[in-house]
Amino acid sequence: MRKFILATTALGLTLATIPALAQDGSGLLQLPIVDKPLELTIHMHHKRYTSYNEDWPVEQAARQMTNIYLKNATVGSNSDNSDEALNLLLASGKMPDIVGMAGIKPQVDKYGPEGAFQPLNDLIDKDAPDIKAFLDSHPDIKSAITSSDGNIYYIPYLPDGKYGRGYFIRYDWLKKLGLDVPQNVDQLHDVLLAFRNDDPNGNGLKDEIPYFATQFNELIRLVTLWDGRSSGSDTQFDFYVKDGEIHHGFVEEGYHVGMSNLAEWYKEGLIDPEIFTRGNNSREALLGQNLGGMTHDWFASTASYNDTLKDKIPGFDWEAMAPPASVSGVRMEEHRRIPVKPDGWAIGYTNKHPEETMKYFDFWFTPEGKDLANFGVEGQQWTMVDGHPQFTTEMLTNGQPVNNQLYAVGSQLQARGYPQDYAYEEQWTNQTALDGIALYDEGDYLIDQFLGVSLNPDEQAVYDKYWPGIRTYMLEKQQAWILGSADINADWDNYLSEVDRMGYSKVIGAMQEAYDRQYKAN
Ligand code: CA
Repeated sequence: MRKFILATTALGLTLATIPALAQDGSGLLQLPIVDKPLELTIHMHHKRYTSYNEDWPVEQAARQMTNIYLKNATVGSNSDNSDEALNLLLASGKMPDIVGMAGIKPQVDKYGPEGAFQPLNDLIDKDAPDIKAFLDSHPDIKSAITSSDGNIYYIPYLPDGKYGRGYFIRYDWLKKLGLDVPQNVDQLHDVLLAFRNDDPNGNGLKDEIPYFATQFNELIRLVTLWDGRSSGSDTQFDFYVKDGEIHHGFVEEGYHVGMSNLAEWYKEGLIDPEIFTRGNNSREALLGQNLGGMTHDWFASTASYNDTLKDKIPGFDWEAMAPPASVSGVRMEEHRRIPVKPDGWAIGYTNKHPEETMKYFDFWFTPEGKDLANFGVEGQQWTMVDGHPQFTTEMLTNGQPVNNQLYAVGSQLQARGYPQDYAYEEQWTNQTALDGIALYDEGDYLIDQFLGVSLNPDEQAVYDKYWPGIRTYMLEKQQAWILGSADINADWDNYLSEVDRMGYSKVIGAMQEAYDRQYKAN
């Protein structure tokens, strides 16, 4: 291998033109970025892995393939808060060559223009053909990762697969009560009422909990059935964009009408009385005890209960249903996977090898790097079958969640900038989930997402001054209205005045300014 490099170098070829043909003893394809191993330091912090592990098989393979060695230099690993860890890093005064973290975008938006991170635009053009090709063909994503000064400071983690959450319902309960799958909001109300009153679990008790959710924002999500909006992205309660204008659903009439109806549903016992507090094990508890009737949640994990509970609850049939039509006849699935996350990695200002680093970043966008980032190491976690990575039988059948096994070898790291490949997930998604996704695909229920804005310092100051208080007030009122301690119809006009008095229009103005600069320029 070394001889091959020397020979091509002697011929005066640049490294970028070395054909990627040679293989070493490991069987891994060689895509050397440098002829001698080059060490680059990295701070990598994510809730799931609070430092970079040089022993990860994926890192070891990347070393063999690229000759770039990442050395862990993470600060703040004893905390799972990535922002705190970055603050400690900045305070230490020792900037590593690479910084990868969850939520890096607002940090580079702030510290990039101040000089802490290197602007990447020219490096991308010159040294990263695969990243460049991706951004050129996805101008919205390019806009989304561009900071207020026009520079790009991070290479993002790019989720793949469109579908996130969908509606699931007990088909066996519908059948037992002689009901059809609800096709609109009125039919949904009647079905949930029947679940409440007609003892579909057959134990003689009125103990059913018709609608439940692991997160209470999946109750607020139901305002879409009255043409309201609960969020514009995969972040809960986010702003949304309509015809180039920034809006927030919580000051709009669809939300008012929706919340007023949901308060009624809560009073009628159609909603889990513990919706605000039950949390993550809601599905486990309410489906497992044969009490829960319907939810809105992630396809793969929610569908898995169809397999695990079939033998425990006779007749158990838990499947996806299409979004019911709203009062105006719109079937909408508001949640989807966002195509770009605020997570990824950046180049520190002291990095003396920005070109090699950018070539290394680009490696993860090549077919070989993409497979390594998504599936793990060829021959260890997967083998190539008909041109597609296929997980080993051991990976798929050892009873461990596949995603956890991948995190453990250093693949599927969100603090690495790379394009995810949904095929990694499809291989262990059950038939119930795949059928549900096909149903949503056929109906084309997804809507466009708000990809976020990069605020300049003045806009950020406005946002920080007003928005947290407004948001807290909105969420307090929301809970009071559902729980019945306040009446939304009596409160609504005052609520709107209060939100405005608290600076709502200033926040929307700042967001709009940033949005226009970021997205309308292209
Ligand atoms: Ca019952």
